[in-house]
Amino acid sequence: MQTKYLFFTGGVVSSVGKGVTAAATGLLLKERGFKVAVQKLDPYINVDPGTMSPYQHGEVFVLDDGAETDLDLGHYERFIDIRLSRVSNFTTGQVYAEVIQKERHGDYLGGTIQVIPHITNEIKRRVGLVAKTTGAEIVLVEIGGTVGDIESQPFLEALRQLRNEFGRENVFFIHVTWLPYIGATNEIKTKPTQHSVAALRSIGISPNMIIARSDHEVEDGLRDKIALFCDVEKEAVIAMVTTPVLYEVPLLLEQMGVGEFLVDKLKLNATKKPNWKPWKKLVEEVRKPKPTINVALVGKYVELHDAYMSVREALKHAALARGVEVEIGWVHSADLEKGRGWDIVKSADCILVPGGFGSRGIEGKIQAAKYARENKIPYLGLCLGMQLMCIEFARHVLNHEDANSTEFDRSTSYPVIDLMLEQRAIADLGGTMRLGLYPCVLKQDSKAGKAYHEQQVDERHRHRFEFNNAYRDEFEKHGMVFSGISPDGKLVEISELENHPFMVGSQFHPEFLSRPMRPHPLFVGFVKAAANRKGIK
Ligand code: GLN
Repeated sequence: MQTKYLFFTGGVVSSVGKGVTAAATGLLLKERGFKVAVQKLDPYINVDPGTMSPYQHGEVFVLDDGAETDLDLGHYERFIDIRLSRVSNFTTGQVYAEVIQKERHGDYLGGTIQVIPHITNEIKRRVGLVAKTTGAEIVLVEIGGTVGDIESQPFLEALRQLRNEFGRENVFFIHVTWLPYIGATNEIKTKPTQHSVAALRSIGISPNMIIARSDHEVEDGLRDKIALFCDVEKEAVIAMVTTPVLYEVPLLLEQMGVGEFLVDKLKLNATKKPNWKPWKKLVEEVRKPKPTINVALVGKYVELHDAYMSVREALKHAALARGVEVEIGWVHSADLEKGRGWDIVKSADCILVPGGFGSRGIEGKIQAAKYARENKIPYLGLCLGMQLMCIEFARHVLNHEDANSTEFDRSTSYPVIDLMLEQRAIADLGGTMRLGLYPCVLKQDSKAGKAYHEQQVDERHRHRFEFNNAYRDEFEKHGMVFSGISPDGKLVEISELENHPFMVGSQFHPEFLSRPMRPHPLFVGFVKAAANRKGIK
């Protein structure tokens, strides 16, 4: 079967949920029995999304193969419940780097290298890789940014060309826009949508569908207007009114006929009828009033909640499974060092310390871990959060006051967290992170073992430093349990406290594998401990 392509472009403004829309559309198709894959094209020049500031770009989402990608890939994986790979995300920087490398190598035999065709060809090659590597029947491709951005032009041009190469009947353009509301006149405006469609058409792309986000109800007449001015069928004008329940988006798109419309227009043969029961139940559960547990999330990028997107979603998934609402109190760890923010920590039912890099705010997180240990407050440490939990233990239980990670203090006399010997050699060469899926063997009678109910699991990693094996015995003698270990016994994957309701840290990032229908066991264990502590039935 010829692969079908859905290309998602954005208009008017960014941050209107293009990623969620693409993810939810993917689910509509998966539910009809199709094998789908998703790809995000990022028009910025950075070569490596892994080095981008979470402040500007939100979290770095890590895949099984260790690719460090845009957070939209998290939406795709969570909604569609698929596992993506490296080919599912690329940037302008990577495209140029590849073309320039080939030029240096003499591959173009002295020809003049241009945006068209050299850059666009490389973009097209990478788009083609998705179907080739996954065997997907339908590939959804989202282009970051909005139409009119200088950076996105080569991408749009490449997609325009692909429409001819793949055949018009196999390509479908979905344009996601925003309908602003003018309070003074109590009106919703379609003009910006018209302008963005005009911009898209000026480069040769006519959208086949317009999904217009709005914070207010959209009257039918406005859909007529958009259809008329933007030259799309009325059934293809979808008014997406903002919902507070993220996981309702697929249901809303389904209600508005998007799934059937796509099947019809792309001449697809659905092999299955969608089963929305689990999703409806999920949304009902979200809507039900429930007792609340408060989580103090002690982090570094707390001003931008997107920096902890997957952590937040994983908490929500686990809370739903336990029948509670989760409220996150955002605490800047550097504030704790100055005596601020403790009210949030002390009134919380549990404390979560997520991953992070660099020394700012480290001591605040260690203080939060100390508070959790001493007061028997459920604690979940993710990667850095696990490392700091071990440093705290070394300092205050084992009385090694100087204990630290060599990431923060190279000359510490008690390097609890350190680079592995093998890593030191490559550290000098620059490439050092342990990235992607690695196995972890669980100790059965431990909290982690009980949470997972499994012998061995694979989890996603993104870190340089490891627990220093020289101290394992001493830790174990004093009540730390290493409940998850690599199969060769060399790497500590999970550590937990013996005499504590739930103080667990993982060297990996469980949040990346949590799904709305399959909450992550460690998050479930954590939320359960908090709910039990609060006496919630
Ligand atoms: N900075 C720590 C390391 O590199 C932790 C990384 C993380 O939390 N992702 O090992």
